[in-house]
Amino acid sequence: MEKEILIFGHKNPDTDTIGSSLVKERLNKKMGNSNCKAVRLGNINKETKYMLDYLKLEAPELIGGVEENQEVILVDHNEFNQSADGIEKAKILEVVDHHRIANFETSEPLTYTARPYGCTSTILFEDYKANNIEISKEEAILMASCIMSDTLILKSPTTTEHDRKALEELEKIAGIDIKAYGLEMLKAGTDLDDFSAEELVNLDAKSLDKNGTKFVIAQVNTVSIEDALKRQEELEEAMNNEIEKNNLDLFVLAITDILNSNSEIIALGKKVESVEKAFEKKLENNKVFLEGVVSRKKQILPNIDKNI
Ligand code: MG
Ligand code: MG
Ligand code: MG
Repeated sequence: MEKEILIFGHKNPDTDTIGSSLVKERLNKKMGNSNCKAVRLGNINKETKYMLDYLKLEAPELIGGVEENQEVILVDHNEFNQSADGIEKAKILEVVDHHRIANFETSEPLTYTARPYGCTSTILFEDYKANNIEISKEEAILMASCIMSDTLILKSPTTTEHDRKALEELEKIAGIDIKAYGLEMLKAGTDLDDFSAEELVNLDAKSLDKNGTKFVIAQVNTVSIEDALKRQEELEEAMNNEIEKNNLDLFVLAITDILNSNSEIIALGKKVESVEKAFEKKLENNKVFLEGVVSRKKQILPNIDKNI
């Protein structure tokens, strides 16, 4: 048999990365491209586990990296430093993504779908529609889970009309109270008690590079910032370890209150002034409270990136 085309999202996978990989595999198979398989680059978080358990689905197979000339399809990311080890030498056939395009380059032509929506699955939803392909109940719940995860149930400023419309239609197909399900799913992801500080700062961490300045923006969801901050000291220790281990100039951890739509940011490293400039606020005890800020992609990353 021909070698399978691997479909995967970013490292430190979130619900959109896992859900959209599974959906993309299903969509491709329905379109006659059966030789593809969703895989993942890291551990499943508790929010994603809630979705998989609900649907009685296995997590995609974990891979360590990709070999030279392996054919791949990227979903929910494009930056090589967030992708599989060895991605530089893989053959990228397609990208479906809703992030900025950076640190990305291919030697051959490819299919690239980038739309500034709240979620990768919203793009996939529109692909089903454009190709007149029926959406199963399972696919509907997968895509709805991704949309609600990435947009915090349509409350994040990244939410677009496309996401709202998709979720509305997917709810009909799913035949369940989708927002009630979504809230339980998000809450499942805020149960952080049995994670070590090291695991917490890596759970949803994005590695970034601006002209050689290396920084990480990590995010954890919570229903109580106050509770999460009880662990500030050990979180800082873990962040400092990452800075040392990976030679980072800045490590930012956003603790996001999914119920009230605010974030507390902890920032460490020699470039912390980029964070102060970004939000025009002084850090106190290494942290700053940001009212109405929930989106790394739209509110946190661009502001810090500009000031690096
Ligand atoms: Mg993602
Ligand atoms: Mg996403
Ligand atoms: Mg996210």
